[in-house]
Amino acid sequence: MLSLFFGILIQVIYVPGPNSLTPSEVGDLLLNVKSIYDTEFPNKPVKINFSGVHYEVPKDTYTIANSQKAYYDWRSSLQNSKGNYLVILPPTTDRFIVGYATPGCHKDNFNSTIVALLQAQNQNGENRQIHSSYLVTHEIGHIFNASHRDTETIMSFDLLHLITLYGGVNFDVASKRDIRRCVD
Ligand SMILES: [Zn+2]
Repeated sequence: MLSLFFGILIQVIYVPGPNSLTPSEVGDLLLNVKSIYDTEFPNKPVKINFSGVHYEVPKDTYTIANSQKAYYDWRSSLQNSKGNYLVILPPTTDRFIVGYATPGCHKDNFNSTIVALLQAQNQNGENRQIHSSYLVTHEIGHIFNASHRDTETIMSFDLLHLITLYGGVNFDVASKRDIRRCVD
């Protein structure tokens, strides 16, 4: 029987909070990330499927502490289940965007977690959706075995600054090779 499922599954856990992305901004972000991967790998796509976007809403008012607690509760409930997870949290108290990913090749049914603290706008009202989208693209690169590159590309340690300068960057040849080796 032909499987309709094709590609790499990443389950999304979204925790709202102060200055966080809205659910519709999360939807836009996931589409942006898929489209960056489609553009970067045009001939032989790296297909990413996002599923199970569920909304862990902190019970009290939105505070950073409540959002973080919702994340820790979720994480401790999950200790023995395998999969690739993307956890979207509100930005830091200083309204910075930052991310972390389990390095290595975690293709399918492996254990990896990306934690991304994202926002749609900074405190000056400047758009940060594109920064957030590239940050998630970069972190997914890490779970597909890409490491940091000293080039003005997606795997640069200085990615967010590059996005401010250029509005967008690409993977370099070495990152594409690393990702291909993992996902093929
Ligand atoms: Zn990185």
